[in-house]
Formats: sequence, structure tokens, C-alpha cells
Amino acid sequence: MDEQLNFAPCGYLVLTKDWEITDMNQTLRDMLGSERAAVNMRDILTVPSKVYFQTYFVPALHIHGRVDELHLTLKGKEGPLPVLMSARERKGLYECALMQMTVREEYENELLVAKRNAEQIQQETDKAYTTLLGLMNEVQQKQEELVELNHRLQTMATTDPLTGLFNRRVFQERLAEQVEKAITEQSVFSVIIFDIDHFKNVNDTYGHNVGDEVLKELAIKIKGLIPIHDSAARIGGEEFAIILKETEQESSSAFAEQLRAYIENSTWHSKPVTVSIGIATYQDGDTAESMYIRADSALYASKRSGRNRVTSF
Ligand code: GH3
Ligand code: MG
Ligand code: MG
Repeated sequence: MDEQLNFAPCGYLVLTKDWEITDMNQTLRDMLGSERAAVNMRDILTVPSKVYFQTYFVPALHIHGRVDELHLTLKGKEGPLPVLMSARERKGLYECALMQMTVREEYENELLVAKRNAEQIQQETDKAYTTLLGLMNEVQQKQEELVELNHRLQTMATTDPLTGLFNRRVFQERLAEQVEKAITEQSVFSVIIFDIDHFKNVNDTYGHNVGDEVLKELAIKIKGLIPIHDSAARIGGEEFAIILKETEQESSSAFAEQLRAYIENSTWHSKPVTVSIGIATYQDGDTAESMYIRADSALYASKRSGRNRVTSF
């Protein structure tokens, strides 16, 4: 072998058709690092490369008379040695050139690792994003639950659970508001307090459940009767109140009489129901308390004078 080919910057070998190595340059010998000269191509290939070589190299050479850039791995002196091999058939022998690919292989491996890392980061990002979406949904759901809960608490704090009317606390607040308004605007309003007559008899005769039904029925009837801007409250067991805005004594008496007659003449599931009513209309110097006391006294005057009637102080 001439000097130049022997030390060329690539490996060179000659094979017989039985894969016997008849010649090998020094460069390839150095790459393999073996003292003993290899005698067969099988001796210098790793197992996977041997399989690949066998199934691809021989048929390709047979068909085309040449093979280009066959990717093989040699058993190098420092471990597996990737090479690109090109071969030509000449005079019944195969002349093969082997170009070392270590740098490119490393580069490809680095690219592969970088790609795998990028994929992993992408997967983690996707996962974190999905978790975040889940958490955001949870937060939104909790906020909706909170709004709903606040609404329920608000209702519980202001409403009488049996009748759905406002409770005593709301009545007292509204009464105080109306007194303030009457003072600042020099206007009038009235408050009506009424109590079911002989309600104890209803309970005693028909039972407490029927008594409750009567209270509910009465609440429905009141709601149907009162002006839209006024509010009714249950301020005691069988005691109710209505604040009539911007209503002076005469009109409030007329409304109270209408309410009394309506209740007396309504159809009830138990025995007939009547109410006694007391009215107070705002006067200069009134407070919420003084108005309540006056309406309550009027109510008890109605009771004393025979019940099922209206009294106005
Ligand atoms: P008066 O005409 O003097 O008002 O007689 P009354 O029987 O209505 O008055 P009294 O104060 O003697 O009795 C009130 C009754 O109302 C007694 C009580 O058991 C009943 N009551 C109070 N709250 C409720 C309730 O929520 N449900 C039922 N079913 N009864 C109630
Ligand atoms: Mg009563
Ligand atoms: Mg009472």
C-alpha cells in the first residue's frame, strides 16, 4: 500500500466477497488499536452493526456495485467508534473508505439530549398550566359559593324563616330610617302593628302545625295587600308590623281597616282568623321608640275594646 493511502485521514480496507480483510491502512489500524491484524470484517464490527452490515452491505453491493455512507459502529480502541463507510467493487474485491464520525455523533447526541430536555420542560409546563387552570376553576367555584353563602347569611339575618317576611331587626332599622327621613324632610309616615286574636285557641284546638300554617297564610295575604314600596315584618310570635311610607293618619286608618276586613273575610284552612290593629302616625318630636310604644298601646286598646278592630293614636 502506498505511503499516502496508508496514512490518509480516513480508514481504508479491502474485503473479499467472503468478508475476509486482505488489506487495511495504518489509520484504520490506529482507530481499532489492535496489534493483531483483523482477518474478517465481522471481527471489527459491534453486534448491531454486524447485523446491519450483513443485511444491507452485501445485497446493495450486489445490486449497485457500490455502497455510500453506510453508518456503522466499529469496536474501537476506546469503545464503540461510529464511522461512515463507502465501498466500491473493483476486480472482484471491495475497497472501503471509513470516515470517523465521533464529533458528529456527539453533536447529534447533544442535540438529542437538548431536544429531550425541551420536550420534558414543555410537558412540565403543560402539566403546570393544567394544574393552574384547575386551581383557577376551584377559586372561581369557591368565590361563587362564598357569594351564595353571603346571600344566604344576608337572608337569614333579615328574614323570618317561617313566613319569609322581614324580621324584627329589619323592622326596627326601617322604623328608625323613616323617623330620620321624617325629621330631615319634614314629612310623615305611619306604622301599623297587628296581632292575631285568640291565636292560642288555634294552637290549642288544631295543633301547633296548623297554627304555623295560619301564620304562613297570613304572611302571603299581607304581601298581596301592601303597597309595593312598603315592607311587612313579623315582629313577634303572632304579631306583625307594616311601615307605610309618606302616609298620614287618615290614609293609614283606611288601609288598616281594609287589612282587618280582608283578613276577617278571607277563607282560612282552620277556623276564621281576625286581627287587632294599632296605628301611630309620625308627629314632631317622635322617636322610633315613641312611635312603637304609641302603636303598641293602640293595638292593646283594640284588644281591650273587643278585638278585630283598628285603633289610631
Ligand atoms: P290575644 O287575642 O290576646 O292576642 O290572644 P292570643 O291567644 O293570641 O295571645 P297569647 O299571647 O295568649 O298567645 C299567643 C299564642 O301564639 C301563644 C303561642 O303559642 C302562639 N305562638 C307564638 N308564636 C307561634 C308560632 O311560631 N307558631 C305557632 N303555631 N304558635 C305561635
Ligand atoms: Mg294574639
Ligand atoms: Mg301577641
